[in-house]
Amino acid sequence: MHKYNILGLKFKLNLINNLISFIYYKITNKIYLGPFSALSTFKINNYQFKVKNDDVVVKTSLCGFCGTDKKILTYDYSFFSSAFLQTNKKKDKEIFLGHEVFGKVVDKGSSVKNLRIGDSVILDSMNRDYNISNNIFGGWTNYFLRNEKQLIKIDNIKPEQAILIEPLACAFEAAIKFKIHRNSKILIIGMGTIGLALNSILKFMYKDKLKIHFFSNSKKDNVKIKKGNIPKVHLSDNIIISTAKLLKTEIVESFGNQITVDGFDYIFDTSGSNNLIHNILRITKKKSKIILMGMNMKKFKFDPTPMWLNELEIVSTHGYNLNFKKYNLLKYISWLIFKNKIDIDYLNTEKFSFNNYEKFINEKNDMIKKKTVTFN
Ligand SMILES: [Zn+2]
Repeated sequence: MHKYNILGLKFKLNLINNLISFIYYKITNKIYLGPFSALSTFKINNYQFKVKNDDVVVKTSLCGFCGTDKKILTYDYSFFSSAFLQTNKKKDKEIFLGHEVFGKVVDKGSSVKNLRIGDSVILDSMNRDYNISNNIFGGWTNYFLRNEKQLIKIDNIKPEQAILIEPLACAFEAAIKFKIHRNSKILIIGMGTIGLALNSILKFMYKDKLKIHFFSNSKKDNVKIKKGNIPKVHLSDNIIISTAKLLKTEIVESFGNQITVDGFDYIFDTSGSNNLIHNILRITKKKSKIILMGMNMKKFKFDPTPMWLNELEIVSTHGYNLNFKKYNLLKYISWLIFKNKIDIDYLNTEKFSFNNYEKFINEKNDMIKKKTVTFN
């Protein structure tokens, strides 16, 4: 059996480290990395993986920093969230982050048939079958182990493209929730990887038949794409007034309570922002559809009346389903990328060496660039 020098980041779940990291974040707005931090580096020399028959050891080439990783590290949730009731991780002492990962197979169990040493793989992060998984480490570690069923073989595309497959799959899942009619007015809230990925997927599915608008917090004014810019409205503005201007419609108002007369047909909220839902309901029209993508794990107060008056349909998505028609969705998306069917050139990534992990964790990059870590 091979031995590996393991290097990576782990997130401790004990109370003291988390309390210190939580307070540090609240004061400095930075993720604490120090002697008592919850997130810390670790090293194990001459480590031997316990490789079961259908297990595979992967050497990490590149791994992304995802919005959900950020939620965990910045304590962006309520401690009373039911997320904590629906997790199997309660008994774990530590977790290993990093799921948007591209790597190479370096070792495998005797009954692994579909993967060979040297194959390039990504992770099927939605496969949480705890009967098969013997998970060791994650994408923010230089080596990790998974069951072969949790890995998807990827050919012909670059690592920087491969780590976008998972967010593109999440965007795809939201895009197929409803059959969207031509000339629909679409609003995407949030210009992070998921918001921009959704734009790519909708353009691929509906060509130029939709009118897509963006509301975003990002500091950059516009995102440059091949055929011009994607303009946006800043979220700190009053989004009801912004909507009225964009859609050339009126606002009905009384006692500071505003609502637009016309509104968007489809609103995708990728931000998971706490205070938006109240206003999102006020820029709709009859039978609008709202698709909530970014998970929100905080309690909030809002006036829900438009849900009934406008007969809104509100649905949520969480990740992706692996099977889309007869395809494996992750493979299908890698094929779309390989064949240049979807434009993802403006979904930029920024690479950090693991030696520079503090920057990888804390550098503010406006979320227009996905941060990635490499171990090479
Ligand atoms: Zn992700």
